[in-house]
Amino acid sequence: MAHRILLVEDEENLRSAIRLNLEMEGYEVTEARDGKIAFDQFRSAHFDLIILDVMLPEMDGYTLCRKIRLENTKVPVIFLTAKGASDERVQGLKLGADDYLAKPFNLEELLLRVGSLLRRGITSQEGKSEMNTYRFGKCEINFLTFDVFGRDEKKRSLPKREIQLLKLLIERKNEVVSREDILRTVWEYDVYPSTRTIDNYIVNFRKYFEKNPREPKHFFSVRGVGYKFND
Ligand code: CA
Repeated sequence: MAHRILLVEDEENLRSAIRLNLEMEGYEVTEARDGKIAFDQFRSAHFDLIILDVMLPEMDGYTLCRKIRLENTKVPVIFLTAKGASDERVQGLKLGADDYLAKPFNLEELLLRVGSLLRRGITSQEGKSEMNTYRFGKCEINFLTFDVFGRDEKKRSLPKREIQLLKLLIERKNEVVSREDILRTVWEYDVYPSTRTIDNYIVNFRKYFEKNPREPKHFFSVRGVGYKFND
């Protein structure tokens, strides 16, 4: 069966050229011209690989990659970055991209990278340690079943959104994650909850996981900036 590729690129000429080349190699290609459309497509079908431009309308490639990684840690992602932007490369790889190509690039080169990532597919998926559970102190979080064991060692089932927020904070532990990042990543792009909503989630996390919720040791709010997890 042909490999399915999601191609996210807003420059129409480049998109058509890439598509044509991929199709000539026998891949099945779905196009998206902005980040929102791409995320909807990602959710509605299975893809074997994603080619992702960084600068996109509606939702940038980084945000899209974060959202994709919260739901699927395995699908290979190749970033297309602006010319010579080495910061973008670092940022992309940190967010879980598997490879990157700086524009302008040779289409041959892209096809080679696509081929090698797809061939590597099985082995690299096995090698990649997916974070299914996370333990700190007496607490445990299962990201697959959404069950958590808190300080009181009681089992609770959390809503998906709480689990996604936990995952985001834990993946970036010791870092302050901004409200904007949280809203963009965990909430839908067309829903804008107040910051109070995130505060309420943090209050819940403290209830579940802190010895003394009034003196948190794990879940911190940094006023006016964001939130941080320490284990
Ligand atoms: Ca672009």
